[in-house]
Amino acid sequence: MASKARFTVGSHVWVEDADVAWIDGLVEEVSGDELIINCTSGKKISANASSVYPKDAEVKRCGVEDMTRLAYLHEPGVLQNLKSRYGMNEIYTYTGNILIAVNPFQRLPHLYNNHMMGIYKGAEFGELSPHPFAIADRAYRLMINCGVSQAILVSGESGAGKTESTKMLMQYLAFMGGKAESGGRSVQQQVLESNPVLEAFGNAKTVRNNNSSRFGKFVEIQFDQNGKISGAAIRTYLLERSRVCQISDPERNYHCFYMLCAAPPEERERYKLGDPASFHYLNQSNCIKLDGMDDSSEYIATRRAMDIVGISSDEQDAIFRVVAAILHLGNVEFSEGRESDSSAPKDDKSQFHLQTASELFMCDEKALEESLCKRVMVTRGESIVRNLDPRAAALSRDALARIVYSRLFDWLVNKINTSIGQDPTSKLLIGVLDIYGFETFKTNSFEQFCINLTNEKLQQHFNQHVFKMEQEEYTKEEIDWSYIQFVDNQEILDLIEKKPGGVISLLDETCMLRNSTHETFAEKLYQNFKSNPHFSRPKFSRSDFTIHHYAGHVTYQTDLFLDKNIDYAVNEHQVLLHDSRCSFVSSLFPPSEESAKSTKFTSIGSSFKQQLQALLETLSSTEPHYIRCIKPNNVLKPAIFENSNVLQQLRCGGVLEAIRISCLGYPTRRTFDEFVDRFGVLLPEVLGDSYDEVTATSMLLEKVNLSGYQIGKTKVFLRAGQMAELDARRTEV
Ligand code: ATP
Ligand code: MG
Repeated sequence: MASKARFTVGSHVWVEDADVAWIDGLVEEVSGDELIINCTSGKKISANASSVYPKDAEVKRCGVEDMTRLAYLHEPGVLQNLKSRYGMNEIYTYTGNILIAVNPFQRLPHLYNNHMMGIYKGAEFGELSPHPFAIADRAYRLMINCGVSQAILVSGESGAGKTESTKMLMQYLAFMGGKAESGGRSVQQQVLESNPVLEAFGNAKTVRNNNSSRFGKFVEIQFDQNGKISGAAIRTYLLERSRVCQISDPERNYHCFYMLCAAPPEERERYKLGDPASFHYLNQSNCIKLDGMDDSSEYIATRRAMDIVGISSDEQDAIFRVVAAILHLGNVEFSEGRESDSSAPKDDKSQFHLQTASELFMCDEKALEESLCKRVMVTRGESIVRNLDPRAAALSRDALARIVYSRLFDWLVNKINTSIGQDPTSKLLIGVLDIYGFETFKTNSFEQFCINLTNEKLQQHFNQHVFKMEQEEYTKEEIDWSYIQFVDNQEILDLIEKKPGGVISLLDETCMLRNSTHETFAEKLYQNFKSNPHFSRPKFSRSDFTIHHYAGHVTYQTDLFLDKNIDYAVNEHQVLLHDSRCSFVSSLFPPSEESAKSTKFTSIGSSFKQQLQALLETLSSTEPHYIRCIKPNNVLKPAIFENSNVLQQLRCGGVLEAIRISCLGYPTRRTFDEFVDRFGVLLPEVLGDSYDEVTATSMLLEKVNLSGYQIGKTKVFLRAGQMAELDARRTEV
């Protein structure tokens, strides 16, 4: 967005600043392209005109509800608007059709009650303050009136408020589509209560968010001919499995573990649970209790939500039995066994936890021990039993815990789906997507790679949509749009997911080869993408690689890519739990056709890619709506708005890109009335009654000798920079 504006002494401007991104000031001197600016902060600086942007001197202190109403659509203007609104607890702002939501980090109950839902119901879009209810209402009405399925895509970084926004959308859709006569276990109630169940098992405290969703989620709500909810389907993506066995201070494991440790005494006794700090899977971090969260009452609430979504009390008992078994399993430590390089439970305490785990899994204790301490190798039809050393046995234990937990989570999702039920006759859907935003950390592994692939794909979908909307607006106003070019990130997507030859394919190939390591994988990447402009090899690195994503460069550490890409249950674990006397546990491990020929593996990368493909196919058959959540600070506190931090998120969320696309065309649109009001002083004769607004607008524009603008049917469309030019003229009058 290069500034094309002309500045004069006295122009209000924005100028770049290393600390706060942008500061405002007044031009004091102009010599050629060099400006001396007197900043409101008191500083005096000189800057080149190309890095200075015009500031709208008439902007209201309360900002505007829609960014497209800004006189100047550019980065500092957008930022200023969000900031001044945030300062007044106006956390929602539109950018055209996109809703930007800045996390308030404080409860604002007056915004979300039934009374508010009633107000938004049926109100014209844009008539009321920006709100997720308005987005949900528009989606609902478009679905009913046009018979087209809708999708609401909520994105943002961890802690930005995606899940909270998603819950408001679902609440509003349940309000609109709920059946009046149904009671406590109505479809809409079940849909809403699926949230606390999934949060108990799929959310955890992280450094970024005390209630962080560790999975992606797409909820598809189905409606019947009368616009009433008739079914729902939940799809989840990539639950973070490693958290079950490994957490770092001051994070927590999944909420359900702590809830169960705080269950009523008779249940805790049944599961032989006590102090959560006595369990290895929980005490790796010093954080056990969470401010503002009472694990005992959460336990009761989760049980109640499970009742409502249709999980029977026997099933609930089995679920929590498995959760407890995982905790006990984690406390089994190993030491050298009798034979060399073998292992056995370290002491009586470990033996006790092993025994308890086997009781809770309802499997044979000896069999459990063997499945942890031994491996059966099949070579040329012969099976040989190999001992695992204590280190390998501990890894085997963790692998078992992870696979059980991930199967349990999948079971819950399936159960919720079957229990709510699908409406096969429904042709009207509203999907709500709550999925992790773009991530770039100090170290980035396979998870970040998958997450960023997701965002790359959603970004493409978003760009296509924004572009289409722009075109539609121009067509409606009957103006020419043929020169707008579409920017695409297809090349980056090809780099990642092309088959064969993309990063995922190469990863799968490496995983299938014996003796391959993350270094051979990295070497393969370096070879294949030597000259790819979206790929680079960091200096001095032997196994890292960098992808130039739309939102920035991300360097990935390949160390664990191979391990994390391979998805299988160790055969010993599979057999052990399939043989459990508990039908629930057994059902988590159905016999697989593949297990006989155990060499074949399923790749997490490839199956995730397919899941994403399916998601994008669903989305492409819907009309999309976007909510971009912004986290204004990293201390999770109200009233703190960090400029650079917010800008970075606007960039990653594609908001700046959407603005850029619109700047390629005609970013400033004004009705003829508004235009004549603002610029009438340039040609006072148009201010009387002698001319209609269209003529007056044309005359004004001719007078100032601008070119390239367009006169539409109801508005005048100005190119980037033209508003500034007009303002400059006005100050000269
Ligand atoms: P993650 O990707 O980690 O799951 P998220 O984007 O889903 O993050 P949320 O869990 O929705 O983030 O929000 C984080 C916290 O911010 C909430 O627990 C809540 O405290 C606060 N919050 C978010 N949105 C709102 C809101 N509209 N009103 C009040 N508080 C909010
Ligand atoms: Mg979340």
